[in-house]
Amino acid sequence: TYTYEASRKAFDRALQVIPSGVYGHLGPANGCFIPQSAFPLFSSRAEGTRFWDLDGNEFIDYMCGYGPNVLGYRDPDVDAAAAEQARHEDVVSLPSGIMVDFAELLVDTVASADWAFFAKNGGDTTTLAVMTARAATLRKKIVFVKGYYHGSAPWTQKLDYPGILEEDVANNLYVPFNDLAALEQVLAENEGTVAGLIAQPYMHGNFADNVLPAQGYWQAVRALCDRYGIVLIVDDVRAGFRLDLAGSDHFYGFSADLICFCKALANGYNVSALCGKESLKDVVGGLSYTGSYWMSAVPFAAGIATLTKLRQIDAPTLFAQLGGDVTSGLVSAAADHGFSLVASGEPALFYLRLADDDSLMLHQEWVAECVRRGVFLTSHHNHFINAALGHADIERTIEVAHEAFGVLRKRHPEAGLG
Ligand code: PMP
Repeated sequence: TYTYEASRKAFDRALQVIPSGVYGHLGPANGCFIPQSAFPLFSSRAEGTRFWDLDGNEFIDYMCGYGPNVLGYRDPDVDAAAAEQARHEDVVSLPSGIMVDFAELLVDTVASADWAFFAKNGGDTTTLAVMTARAATLRKKIVFVKGYYHGSAPWTQKLDYPGILEEDVANNLYVPFNDLAALEQVLAENEGTVAGLIAQPYMHGNFADNVLPAQGYWQAVRALCDRYGIVLIVDDVRAGFRLDLAGSDHFYGFSADLICFCKALANGYNVSALCGKESLKDVVGGLSYTGSYWMSAVPFAAGIATLTKLRQIDAPTLFAQLGGDVTSGLVSAAADHGFSLVASGEPALFYLRLADDDSLMLHQEWVAECVRRGVFLTSHHNHFINAALGHADIERTIEVAHEAFGVLRKRHPEAGLG
């Protein structure tokens, strides 16, 4: 199994010059609990569905850069389009004309998009969406669904997190997912003060089985938003283009007022987009909101190539099949060793949990054994499928999962046997 000497040395250097060595969700402290002993820390190269770490260890990657790798790392068509654009221009004193092409393609592809506003990160678009809802309604409050993640801006955080003020979250209201009665009550109690409701298309939270929308839930939410004059914001930063190229609202049979895209939009090139309805276009145009790199042209070219290719290969259908193959293989590997593995969420973004493991330690141990054998899974976060994942990769994944469950069974003869 793998060892990580070079990565450890780099991490020691990082600790001297970078807060926490590697901050945020890519760091070992927050890397959704791949135990530190198995965490590779730094990569050196990536191609297709794989990356290699500083020690030269090779991984089949089920995190896909936490989403951006949707076609395969260094996809030749996307990279060629980006390189061609780079020969002409990138960041200039005017936006490149290619910005219009990309906006037209998004409007043509995404059902609820009459326009597109480009930025860099997912959080840029969720923040813009909330500002837009407030500017459009002249109201303050925003409804969140418990277990949400909409980025790291102060308005998305919790009062007890460091650096967050009461004022940052004073206008946040929270309802449980799939609970229409609770939503109706909150809207009635706050009538005339709620600007928007922001939600992921389904609950892909951490440390919990992912939860799909109940039959009719989204249609009822849409109707309530209409009744109370509330802007319905879908945060499709994570699921966007993996379930449905027309948007995850389209996938679940409803229509958002605003929809946020980022991760899968340009196969790793840096661009995000807020799209929305005609009725909000002038409101967005009137906001004070911009950034130094938001109109850089190379990511627009990459985005056009990415969306075009996702359409050509009908990527969402492929992701559902591949995700289903991976999860059914993993679940039966677990069963062969007497463990019960629960897969939840949409297959394209599957979430895994070992049953009968309340401390979560068994699951983390299994993930660590997989990672040390070259299958990069994570413990308490959803995974991501990309189009470069082949059947041989899936077979190898299942083989490694078997080995890892075998190791676990030897160490814990009684675990999970009921
Ligand atoms: N919303 C969701 C659902 C996300 O998954 C993320 C990123 N994990 C964000 C918003 C924030 O995106 P970013 O980190 O690019 O700002």
